[in-house]
Amino acid sequence: MMLYLYLAIFILILGLLLLWLAARSQKSAGLPGGRIIYTDTRAWGSKLEKSLYDSSLGLTGKPDYLVEKDGQIIPVEVKSGRAPEEPYDSHIFQLAVYCLLVEKTMNRKPPYGIIHYENRDFAIDYTDDLRKSVLDLLIDIRSNERRSDIPRSHNISLRCAKCGFRNVCEQKL
Ligand code: SF4
Repeated sequence: MMLYLYLAIFILILGLLLLWLAARSQKSAGLPGGRIIYTDTRAWGSKLEKSLYDSSLGLTGKPDYLVEKDGQIIPVEVKSGRAPEEPYDSHIFQLAVYCLLVEKTMNRKPPYGIIHYENRDFAIDYTDDLRKSVLDLLIDIRSNERRSDIPRSHNISLRCAKCGFRNVCEQKL
């Protein structure tokens, strides 16, 4: 009986340690965790039709919605499927690209963006660290542009179609 108790305590401690390590690595990558929020999707209006484009960064992207709230423009990215415990890094980066594009093209820096999953919405704060991470990623992509040995990690054309790095990526589908 005691053995089961020790085992349960050990598993609990291990789980907490893994959670702490995951949160720490996300933080050190400059990625904020998501805040779960309630959003009224009826207030979003219609889907964005045209992509946003900034020539100084050579960056383009199309958030699903741009929502005006308290004088701010909030980009919204809609994901199919149920929400993970925390938004994936790739989803956070994609949303951060949209925040950067709103900032550049509309001259209004969004305080946060929203990732909308089927069952839950996350607000992702557009922090200075996140902004810097996106700009660093862009520099990385550019500096690797001439390398031909970096394989694309997927075959999902929809992902490429909505990717903010399309016009600098030679492997887009
Ligand atoms: S392959 Fe290129 S365009 Fe497609 S998702 Fe990856 S970075 Fe974006």
